[in-house]
Amino acid sequence: MQTHNLGYPRIGSHRELKKASENYWAGNASAQELQQTAYELRLRHWKAQSEAGIELVPVNDFSLYDHVLDTLLTFGAIPERYQPLVGGAQPLDLYFAMARGHQRDGLDLRAMEMTKWFDTNYHYIVPEFHREQQFQLFRPKVLDELAEALQAGIKAKPVLLGPISFLLLGKAKNTDFNTLDLLPRLLPVYAQLLQRIADQGVTWVQLDEPILATDISPEAQIALVQAYNYLRKSVPGLKFLLANYFDCFGEALDTVLSLPVEALHLDLVRCPSQLDDLLEHPALGDQRILSLGVVDGRNVWRNDFAHSLTFLRKAVAKVGEARVWVAPSCSLLHSPIDLSLETKLDQELQQWLAFAQQKLEEVSTLAELASTAEPSRRALARLELNQQAHEARRRSTRIHNPEVKKRLEALKADHFRRQSAFDQRQSAQHKALKLPLFPTTTIGSFPQTPEIRALRANFKKGAISAAEYEAAMEEAIRESITWQEEVGMDVLVHGEFERNDMVEYFGELLEGFAFTQYGWVQSYGSRCVKPPIIYGDVWRSRDLSVRWSSFAQAQTQLPVKGMLTGPVTILQWSFVRDDQPRHQTAFQIACAINDEVKALEVAGIGVIQIDEPAFREGLPLRQKDRPAYLDWAVKAFRLSNSGVSDQTQIHTHMCYSEFNDIIEAIAAMDADVITIETSRSDMELLDAFVDFKYPNEIGPGVYDIHSPRIPSTDEMEALLLKALKFVPARNLWVNPDCGLKTRRWPETKEALIRMIAVAKALREKTAASVAS
Ligand code: GLN
Ligand code: ZN
Repeated sequence: MQTHNLGYPRIGSHRELKKASENYWAGNASAQELQQTAYELRLRHWKAQSEAGIELVPVNDFSLYDHVLDTLLTFGAIPERYQPLVGGAQPLDLYFAMARGHQRDGLDLRAMEMTKWFDTNYHYIVPEFHREQQFQLFRPKVLDELAEALQAGIKAKPVLLGPISFLLLGKAKNTDFNTLDLLPRLLPVYAQLLQRIADQGVTWVQLDEPILATDISPEAQIALVQAYNYLRKSVPGLKFLLANYFDCFGEALDTVLSLPVEALHLDLVRCPSQLDDLLEHPALGDQRILSLGVVDGRNVWRNDFAHSLTFLRKAVAKVGEARVWVAPSCSLLHSPIDLSLETKLDQELQQWLAFAQQKLEEVSTLAELASTAEPSRRALARLELNQQAHEARRRSTRIHNPEVKKRLEALKADHFRRQSAFDQRQSAQHKALKLPLFPTTTIGSFPQTPEIRALRANFKKGAISAAEYEAAMEEAIRESITWQEEVGMDVLVHGEFERNDMVEYFGELLEGFAFTQYGWVQSYGSRCVKPPIIYGDVWRSRDLSVRWSSFAQAQTQLPVKGMLTGPVTILQWSFVRDDQPRHQTAFQIACAINDEVKALEVAGIGVIQIDEPAFREGLPLRQKDRPAYLDWAVKAFRLSNSGVSDQTQIHTHMCYSEFNDIIEAIAAMDADVITIETSRSDMELLDAFVDFKYPNEIGPGVYDIHSPRIPSTDEMEALLLKALKFVPARNLWVNPDCGLKTRRWPETKEALIRMIAVAKALREKTAASVAS
């Protein structure tokens, strides 16, 4: 039974690519040095895959920055503004200018837009197409990498982003048109490229069309048929594997089965029911190969062989062994690289996990076990071990905490709502807090200076004592409180100096979380994240934030906002256990946060913010699955703060824009106040308020914290006046877009002083107009 892989992580197990790229960008390494590192990584990764027993190894899954950007360069779709760099002495200048912007030699070019790759935390460069867009083979790097792989004796399967996904992931620039209109111009160039691939003597090419995991229009389905018929006719010598992942083929299944492609890849982790749909389908044909993605490329758990084998055996029984391939569910780009590097995870946990390298071994073992040939002793031993590990995990007392399960079972409607309706809470809060009109606040974090980072690092290393660390933290908090009082802020924050990251910080204090040393996953370009692993029932065994919040509150008569991360965001930015539904884990986290909220309340903190910046990210790819997600996500948030008194004011915060389509769910969260990112889009959020009146208090961010630029008072005032057209004055807050941790103090201070001046001026104007 054939094994293959769809893609391997690029960054290197010790983030070699990150370091090499950043050195190059900083001018500390030559282009040649960067290319050398890249070459060594490709070679190392190809060999590692072959050694793990993968027969068809992906080529061109590697990228110096992003594979969609590579596709743009392959087909010469370079936006006009980068023309001055085309044909320059250093080809990487053009590439990285598109990726990161370019300010040099009198040129000032902004970077291309970046957005999330489907529902992953990987970001791709969004193609910009114009109506007259032309394509040509410009830099077809796949050809070079293929030559390299063949030279190295690798059985290579080149990977390309398919034409339909490529066009649909792009945006029409300047004029409004359907990017699919460009297909007739694109296809001949695709065919040319495929022919050159075929000329190098390979049999298979993998064409990724993950857009099929979303709801595509009937016209996109027609385009799909046109495209693949054209390519099939133009390049008869090459076999096509059409790969879809992250969800089912959905409505497009019949269309997909009509395509002249020799093999189809199915993500059976995200869509297990799909196998039956295909096996029973009259259009499956008697030749078509099915690549079964049974090993989860999106999570860190060891595969359950018994479960995977049921799929593989069923397919073999129906279509025969020669027509079944085994693979991970999607590219392993989204998975950490190598579990064997982890020296600090205990034995028990280790046995439950598999990273990219281990997943490939699982693929090859599964192929052997599902084959009708006698499996090797080694494969049988691995099966035995696999079953033992799963049995142990099911029963482990480290995972299962009966108290947590009991608490979840006992949840009643009251646990998902505040004691009174918003109006009643609002008057209780206004009485208790006595805030002025247009209260000013910030989102939580203040600049993380090198001194603050060094302090945390030294404490972690044991270079300073707990007492020294705490004294220094208290000093930083005291200073920040004094400054906020001086400038006239209304609701203060302690500054989050003790936090490295808003999820990792809470994960380290909560039960049920584990952390890796090298479990990095690429987020964009050279940026990687190391998500925590939620392996067991989550609960709160100790204080998470009360110590710092109550210290801050003791320094001032003004309200200090407690600061927590919400259940959906903690879930979304972690690897989540796969032995219970996601919402159940979210509810467990919500209960733990609820304990902290109550503890803050007892400690005299009257305003508590629960951040949910990742709330929107969790949205499923298909429309039909969205209501169910929003339902439990809203419930999880409500569960995190139910049971507090009416006068305790609960805030939430969201960023990363585009809320208009889920504004009703956001309202259903029923936070007393939401601070929300919207300054970059010029308060686009308010468009949603034309049809929908947001019921609670709201602080649409008045300036963008992602840039060091200090906003003028006029700009901020204009944004607030715009907001006042839709939001009643008594509900409007004044705040920046997001936390200030990435900024430096000088610009932060100046921007906030101006922001407060704007709020005060508006207050006076409003008072004067009421009086007259
Ligand atoms: N409270 C967090 C901060 O200010 C919120 C961060 C975020 O929204 N991503 O840093
Ligand atoms: Zn934010």
